Amino acid sequence: MPYPTQPTASHFINGKYVEDTAGAEIPVIYPATGEQIAVVHEATPAIIELAITSARAAQKAWAAMSGTERGRILRRAADMIRERNHDLSVLETYDTGKPMSETLYVDATSGADALEYFGGLAGSLTGEHIQLGEDWVYTRREPLGLCVGIGAWNYPTQIACWKAAPALACGNAMVFKPSETTPLCALKVAEILHEAGLPAGLYNVIQGTGAVGAPLVTDPRVDKVSLTGSVPTGRKVYAAAAASIKHVTMELGGKSPLIIFDDASLEDAVGGAILANFYSSGQVCSNGTRVFVQKGIKEAFLKRLHERLQTVVMGDPLDEATNFGPMVSERQMNIVQGYIEKGQAEGARLVCGGKRVGTEGFYLEPTVFAEVTDTMTIAREEIFGPVMSVFDFDTEEEVITRANDTEFGLSAGVFTADLTRGHRVIAQMEAGSCFINSYNDAPVEAPFGGSKQSGVGRENSKAAINHYSQLKSVYVRMGAVDAPF
Ligand code: NDP
Repeated sequence: MPYPTQPTASHFINGKYVEDTAGAEIPVIYPATGEQIAVVHEATPAIIELAITSARAAQKAWAAMSGTERGRILRRAADMIRERNHDLSVLETYDTGKPMSETLYVDATSGADALEYFGGLAGSLTGEHIQLGEDWVYTRREPLGLCVGIGAWNYPTQIACWKAAPALACGNAMVFKPSETTPLCALKVAEILHEAGLPAGLYNVIQGTGAVGAPLVTDPRVDKVSLTGSVPTGRKVYAAAAASIKHVTMELGGKSPLIIFDDASLEDAVGGAILANFYSSGQVCSNGTRVFVQKGIKEAFLKRLHERLQTVVMGDPLDEATNFGPMVSERQMNIVQGYIEKGQAEGARLVCGGKRVGTEGFYLEPTVFAEVTDTMTIAREEIFGPVMSVFDFDTEEEVITRANDTEFGLSAGVFTADLTRGHRVIAQMEAGSCFINSYNDAPVEAPFGGSKQSGVGRENSKAAINHYSQLKSVYVRMGAVDAPF
């Protein structure tokens, strides 16, 4: 399969590729081999300025178009993404190392879903009419203006689209900064949006580290910041955005519980736990990395999990038979290895995995710890790699308390044959995106996001419209104005 061509330039601003080689070089590394496949330049202050001024200049005319016209462009972009799914999936695989057996089905395709869904909604965004006797109030649903998107590295195409689609549908402009680790995919999203007819300036991509993200967040011309990233970065970005009371969406990390009762289907529970821990080599924010297994089913669960993990096909991500790829970067691999060492040092039992595979690329074995206790480091901190921690529990009441004992609140799952218990337990989970007898589904029709420190706001679904638009109330008096003096 072809190497992705070097992007035409580092940034996409005002409808075209733009370069400024004065910016520091950011090498793009293919995680499967460790080879450098491209280089982009960090945005200089001049590039940041160009992106902001282009977006501001384009936004008002875009907002003045009808929602149906805006939506048509987004839906055309969705069709183009689907037509080019194969090439976009190859690029996503080079950017992230995720296997083609995943990228062909969940990256560009879910980006296209978002553009299609919000493209469809754009024409039906309305305010309301509130009659007050003779007088009346009407509300106008208006765009926020200029939105900044800042992305993590695990789903670069999806994150770019999940932010672009609702923002543009509501009549905003966007400046998007991908993670420096995966800079390529968002450029393609920008290219396709403009090929589909998006007027120049409305979706701009600029490269760089947090040092480029930070001035975007504090710029007074920016009205909203949507971040996908870790909780520590979220704290900084939320605080910086608060200085000028900007709107925010924070899609942050998690340490989510997956609760398996002993009446659950063993095969489905094991399958759910695999999806909740090893998809994308464990680099998924909503992963259920704290797997609570009721004592009656524990040994059978661990045995079957171990058997199924022996069938993992680790290897060349471009080979569609591969279903387990490398970590995104050497840095992330080292972080995860550090947690594996801590797990062993703190007394958890290593059931399987734990080692690096080969010396080329950043591969780690799928790793399972059992007899993990609630206070161990691997039980408390987000690892963001293929490391599952299995905990024992006795009663429903006990597991609910322990599952909620975390600062995070992104997701939670429960496997049980007793649906009444499934709903009862999920109702008590302090988490935003939950699952019963399933894990990690993220359809565009459903709100996605966290509670507690896992985030603020929701992506996807009609709920996202509230986070990319605001209501203006207009009071209309029909009679005389009765003033006191
Ligand atoms: P980081 O928090 O390290 O970075 C996220 C983004 O923020 C990057 O583009 C980063 O730039 C940028 N950034 C860093 N510091 C600042 C700053 N001070 N101001 C503005 N921008 C800044 O996350 P990762 O990229 O390591 O991604 C992994 C994390 O993302 C995990 O915690 C995961 O749970 C979370 N995540 C959450 C999701 C959700 O929807 N809830 C989905 C996917 C991931 P750079 O890294 O280029 O320097």
